[in-house]
Amino acid sequence: AVTSKTNFIRQIIEEDLAAGRHTRIATRFPPEPNGYLHIGHAKSIVLNFGLAQDYPGICNLRFDDTNPHKENHEFVEAIKADVRWLGYDWGERVYFASDYFERLYAFAVELIEKGLAYVCDLTAEEIREHRGTLTVPGRDSPHRDRQVAENLDLFRRMRAGEFPDGSHTLRARIDMASPNINLRDPVLYRIRHGVIHHQTGSEWCLYPTYDYTHPISDALEGITHSLCTLEFEDHRPLYDWCIDHVSVPSKPRQIEFSRLNLEYTVMSKRRLTQLVEEGHVQGWDDPRLPTIAGLRRRGYTPAAIRTFCDRIGVTKSDNLVEMAMLESAIRDDLDATAPRRMAVLRPLKVVIDTLPADHDELLEAANHPKDPAQGSRQIPFTREIYIDREDFAEDPPKGFKRLVPGGEVRLRSGYVIRCEEVIRDETGALVALRASHDPATLGAKPEGRKVKGVIHWVPATEAVAAEVRLYDRLFQVPEPGAGGRDFRDDINPASLVVIDGALVEPALADCQPGERFQFEREGYFVVDPDSTTGRLCFNRTVGLRDSWGK
Ligand code: ATP
Ligand code: MG
Ligand code: MG
Repeated sequence: AVTSKTNFIRQIIEEDLAAGRHTRIATRFPPEPNGYLHIGHAKSIVLNFGLAQDYPGICNLRFDDTNPHKENHEFVEAIKADVRWLGYDWGERVYFASDYFERLYAFAVELIEKGLAYVCDLTAEEIREHRGTLTVPGRDSPHRDRQVAENLDLFRRMRAGEFPDGSHTLRARIDMASPNINLRDPVLYRIRHGVIHHQTGSEWCLYPTYDYTHPISDALEGITHSLCTLEFEDHRPLYDWCIDHVSVPSKPRQIEFSRLNLEYTVMSKRRLTQLVEEGHVQGWDDPRLPTIAGLRRRGYTPAAIRTFCDRIGVTKSDNLVEMAMLESAIRDDLDATAPRRMAVLRPLKVVIDTLPADHDELLEAANHPKDPAQGSRQIPFTREIYIDREDFAEDPPKGFKRLVPGGEVRLRSGYVIRCEEVIRDETGALVALRASHDPATLGAKPEGRKVKGVIHWVPATEAVAAEVRLYDRLFQVPEPGAGGRDFRDDINPASLVVIDGALVEPALADCQPGERFQFEREGYFVVDPDSTTGRLCFNRTVGLRDSWGK
């Protein structure tokens, strides 16, 4: 993939800097604390913080918390942790839109005094009816021409808590006939009693709308370029209207870009919340979710997520990105960095009869085939070892290069062994193999014959027990819920396979949660925080090759 950071937003910024419109830029990342961040947010984070790093500039973290009903402090803390983990630092510049409630109120008073806002007594339903449609112009509210003094009085009493929810709103007085429905006297304030806001408690029963709060917050913070997703394009005239009609200290510019959509997953917070709350997944950090916390637990690195964001780029055209693209970013990273280890997922015992019972040789194995700086570790080679059940076949399919009765295979970093006998129990089930080894084959080719296959293995007594979790995509279709289906009906029932009796090499005994490895021939794995001393637990991050969709 071609990685070029240049995009239309960078071009705008470069023009603005060249023209002297700004000497430094200011961007912001404005999450609503009503859920965990996901890979789509990462696109916005990498864009906003990345611009502030690459040009003279700053990036604020601003919690867009004007909708107290679904917001809470847990989400604030989780969002901070995720942004930090992605590698970005907002320094002192963390803000809450709720910090501006008092000033937003004062600006609303200013609008009322200018005759640009009025208190409306219509219900939400009546406002909707009056608004009209694309083809039908809106109708004026009967309260549109209220006198300034009456509006000021009613607005003050709305704040004082004199009116119940839904009885009054403050609306901008713009144009009920505007072709842009967002300009048909949009609601600026609504009444919400009885909610405890995570920042302002019960101080307010009057809450500003997003469309009113966002531009003013941007202006108060001196944001120069306010980047948002395409669905806000139609809101830009309202954004500019707010900035132009109140006495804010600066004039930010809103620029829209396309949001990230990813195949086989969902990203709306409403759907993610449903998946978590209804128990379809095990929490916001379930490794199958596209949340940052889920990707972290899955074994993704911040660098891989940033690389992915660079590769997808920033444009104005909506598209659906293949999951394979995200996977290739983590695969590239882990291929270069992850130490190699051996893990046998479906153990089959092999007794090497040519070794004495107390044989305890140590074999040297490189930690990384392309990076000698990673050094090596020692693996005990003993009379009894385990190989993977799938690396043995009595009736091999054509082209099978692993172990067969009477055939030879090389043990990774070790000797060539030959399968001499197949041991079964009374029911005929496979129990173990008896084998011999060729002592002349350590680091050397076998004499007079070719041995093609190399398989991984672990020593029997010194291997460490592990649970291995193999994840597949959470949904069975590229666009869950498309065509009016319930997106939950598209959940993949086999998105998690837990392998209980895996065995890993002893060098992994002391590994810590978050450490990442390549299990040779199996894929990339990360140590899960569920690991305990006697019992390791690994999550498969991604397979070695692109196995997606097979
Ligand atoms: P949802 O629609 O799921 O509620 P949201 O956009 O309302 O998501 P916010 O917390 O408001 O979520 O988003 C914070 C910032 O992240 C916004 O600037 C938004 O544009 C950006 N963002 C959210 N989702 C995506 C996405 N899929 N791709 C790119 N940017 C996104
Ligand atoms: Mg939202
Ligand atoms: Mg939002």
